[in-house]
Amino acid sequence: MLQTCRALCSQAGPPAGSWQPLCFDRGSFRLKGTAELMRALLVLRLCAWPPLVTHGLALQAWSQRLLGSRLSGALLRASIYGQFVAGETREEVRDCVRQLQALGLRPLLAVPIEEEPDLAAKTSEAWYEDNLNAMLRCVDLSRDLVGTPGPSGNTVMQLKMTALTSTRLCKALTSWIRRLGACPELSPERLAEAMDSGQKLQISYLNTEQNQHLQASLSRLHRVAQHARNQQVRLLVDAEYTFINPALFLLVAALAQHWNSPAEGGPWVWTTYQAYLKDTHEQLAQDAEAAHRAGLAFGVKLVRGAYLDKERAVSQLQGSEDPTQPNYEATSQSYNRCLELMLNQVSRRGSMCHLMVASHNEESIHQATKRMWQLGIPVDGPVCFGQLLGMCDHVSLALGQAGYMVYKSIPYGSLTEVIPYLIRRAQENRSVLQGARREQALLSQELWRRLQGKA
Ligand SMILES: Cc1cc2nc3c(=O)[nH]c(=O)nc-3n(C[C@H](O)[C@H](O)[C@H](O)COP(=O)(O)OP(=O)(O)OC[C@H]3O[C@@H](n4cnc5c(N)ncnc54)[C@H](O)[C@@H]3O)c2cc1C
Repeated sequence: MLQTCRALCSQAGPPAGSWQPLCFDRGSFRLKGTAELMRALLVLRLCAWPPLVTHGLALQAWSQRLLGSRLSGALLRASIYGQFVAGETREEVRDCVRQLQALGLRPLLAVPIEEEPDLAAKTSEAWYEDNLNAMLRCVDLSRDLVGTPGPSGNTVMQLKMTALTSTRLCKALTSWIRRLGACPELSPERLAEAMDSGQKLQISYLNTEQNQHLQASLSRLHRVAQHARNQQVRLLVDAEYTFINPALFLLVAALAQHWNSPAEGGPWVWTTYQAYLKDTHEQLAQDAEAAHRAGLAFGVKLVRGAYLDKERAVSQLQGSEDPTQPNYEATSQSYNRCLELMLNQVSRRGSMCHLMVASHNEESIHQATKRMWQLGIPVDGPVCFGQLLGMCDHVSLALGQAGYMVYKSIPYGSLTEVIPYLIRRAQENRSVLQGARREQALLSQELWRRLQGKA
C-alpha cells in the first residue's frame, strides 16, 4: 500500500556531521522566573520525603481541619497544585499553556478522573456519562489551545479508559481474553462494527448487566473518538493494571479499526506500552506487525510503567508470577529495546507510525535522539517526547529548545478533584520523585547563581 510504504526518511540515512548529545543542565532554567524555580525546588524536596507522599491524603484532611479550607487551599495552590496542575478554569489552563508554548513546549491535557479499582462496584452509568462530557470538553479545550501562539499542530490529549468503562467489566473481559485467546466473538472487528453501527452487541460470555454496560461504553468511546477526530485531536489511551490491560488493548484495537484506517490519515487513537512488564516487547512487536499487515496506522506512547508496587502486591497475594521486570536495570533494558523497535517502525512506515517517548530518563532521551539522528527521523516528525508538568523541566526545555516536539502532561481541575489524583500519582511515581535529585541540584545551583547576582 502506497501510504504504508511512504517512509519518511529511512533512505536518507544519518545527516552529515556527528550527533551531539543534548545538554541537560541548568542552562535551560534561564527561561524561568526565580519564583518558579524556588517553588519547584521546595515542592520536589517535599515530594521526595516518603511520609508526605504516603500520608498525603490524611495530611490534606488535617490541614483543612486545622487551617480551614481557604488557607489550606491557598497553601496547596502556592505549592503542589501550582507546580503540577495547570489550573481550574479555561483561562487558567490557557495561561499555563501559553507560558509553556513560549518555552517551546506543547500541552497534553489529562482529565484527572479515575476509578479506584476497589470502588468499581459503587459507580453508576451516570458517572461514566459525566466523565464522557468532561472528555469531550477536554477535546474542545485541546483544540482551542492550538489557536494560541507557539508550536501548534499535532494536538494530543490523554484518555483514561476506566473513566468511560468500569474496571469490573474490563476485569471480566480480560479473564475471558486470557482464557479464550483470539476468538471471533471478542474480536476488535466485531466490537468496531457495533461501535460504528450502534447495533446491539451480545457477548455470550457476559451477563445481561455486563452486556448493557459494554454497549454503553462502546457508544461513549465512539463518541469521544469521533469528536476528537473531527477536532483533529489525537487520543493517547493510558495503560493501567495487568488485570485490565488486555481489555483496554481490545477496546483500543476496536477504535483503531476505524480511526487509524488509511482513510482517516494517521493514528488518532494511540496505545500505551509499559516497559516494566516482561511481555511488553513481544506484544509491541506483534501489534506493530499486525497494524502494518492490516494497513492501519499505529500510535504508541512508550512508558516504563507507574503501578509497580501494586502489580507486585497483587501477584504476591494471588500466588501468581510477578508480571514485572525483576529490577530497574531490566526495565530500562526493556524500554531501550521497545524504543529501538518503534524507531525502526517509524523509519520504515513514516507518518503511519507515531511514537511518544514518555520518560524523564536522560539516558532514554539521549538514546532516542541519537537513534532518530542515525535513522534520519526529523526532530519535528512522528516521534515526540512527553514529561509531566512540573517534572524534569531541564529535560523538556533542552528538548524544546533543540526543536523536538515535547509535550507536558497537564492535569487540570479544582483542588478537590485534583489533589487526591496528584497524591495517588505521587505514590505511584515515588521512585521518580525520589530520583529527582539531579533536578533539585540543578535548581539549587541556578538559584545560588541568581542570588550572587551573576548574569
Ligand atoms: C506523558 C506521560 C504519560 C504517562 N502515561 C502512563 C500510562 O499511561 N501508564 C503508566 O503506567 N504510566 C504512565 N506514565 C508514568 C511512567 O510509566 C513512569 O512512571 C514515569 O514516567 C517514570 O519513568 P521514567 O522513565 O520517567 O523515569 P525513571 O526514573 O528512569 O524510571 C522509573 C521507573 O522505572 C521502573 N522501576 C523502578 N524501580 C524498579 C524496579 N525495582 N524494578 C522494575 N522496574 C522498576 C518503574 O516503572 C518506575 O516508574 C506516564 C508518564 C508520562 C511522562
